[in-house]
Amino acid sequence: MLNAEIINKDEEIVKFVDDLLEEAVKQGVSDVHIEPQATNTRVRFRKDRKLYIPEGYDNIPKQLHEYIIARIKVLTKTMKLDVKKRPQDGRIKSNILGRDFVFRLLVYPTIHGESINIFNMDDYLQQYTVEELFNNDINLIKIFRRNLKKEEGLILFTGPTTVGKSTFIASTINELAGTGVKIRTIEDPVELQMDNTDQVQIDLYQGLDMTAALRSCCRGDVDVLYICELRQFEVAHIALEIGLNKGYKVLSTMHTNNGISTLFRFTEMGIKEYMTASALELVVGLRRTKKLCPHCKEKADLLESEFEGLGLTEEDIQNGKFYKAKGCDKCFNTGYTGKLALVEILEFTRSLKDAFVKGADADEMEKLAKKEGVYHSLAEDTRKKFINGDIDIEEARIFTF
Ligand SMILES: [Zn+2]
Repeated sequence: MLNAEIINKDEEIVKFVDDLLEEAVKQGVSDVHIEPQATNTRVRFRKDRKLYIPEGYDNIPKQLHEYIIARIKVLTKTMKLDVKKRPQDGRIKSNILGRDFVFRLLVYPTIHGESINIFNMDDYLQQYTVEELFNNDINLIKIFRRNLKKEEGLILFTGPTTVGKSTFIASTINELAGTGVKIRTIEDPVELQMDNTDQVQIDLYQGLDMTAALRSCCRGDVDVLYICELRQFEVAHIALEIGLNKGYKVLSTMHTNNGISTLFRFTEMGIKEYMTASALELVVGLRRTKKLCPHCKEKADLLESEFEGLGLTEEDIQNGKFYKAKGCDKCFNTGYTGKLALVEILEFTRSLKDAFVKGADADEMEKLAKKEGVYHSLAEDTRKKFINGDIDIEEARIFTF
């Protein structure tokens, strides 16, 4: 009797986890959270930046929590079942509804037990060309490519987490990769496995931290070095030094609000202006926005006053195609489908570098960059997509600050 019960429970847990991943894929979510609470277990999905409890998952008995976590750990084939007091990373490959999906996982201890964040890599694993990433904007692609061609210096990708920086970098590395180029990456964790690239995983337990990895990996014969994130002074300083003195092309990421503020972020970290100016060549900013469902979006009749603060011209308002969300079965009645990348680009040209070293402030830098035609801001990109009817006014407001 007892045995039968255990077998049934196992089967139920296996089915529960399978169904959960399938539901997440069906709903097109970016993250699944399985969170232990004091008296129950909570499951939440994140889609289009919003967290919600999916239907049918609102009351999971706490007694099953451990079994669910164990089943997921088993699926990763690498996570340790008996390690419960330390965070673990892993990934699951799974065929769902006839397609292969990859999920990245983070399990970490909380006061109520282990919490899991399952991250759907589907969006990230799609291969995009540079043209697609820049929405075929010829001018932006030209600026991007002429900086990629430079043999040395730093190219930075900015924006919050999960905006698609990894996808962008993978596409960039893909464009650079070839038999004549040696590429090395330092990542924490390795997000996307790439061909023709030596990928180094930071491993704190083995004493391989960021600075140690950087110091050893920048030796030897390398053309392109990708460093996952410039967060502290030391890492940023080494990255700039490598871009400057070693003659490598360095790619990296940073959390900043916009291209112009990125320049000053280095100064805030304690890096001298001349150093930033010598090594930094290009900043590419990224955001993700909710794309209106093309199957059900409706024409929006907007009042003159509603356009205030968006920075649109009279001509934009007259010629724009403005739409709003409605909802149909193709978009699970949300009115939105898929993600749309908003891109920003700032080329750090000779004259901008000179002005920066001489102490120009953010406003002066922005004016100069605009005058030279080397700064396409996030707000501009947002306006373009709003006028084109790809996003609604609520989304446009978020990014036209
Ligand atoms: Zn729809």
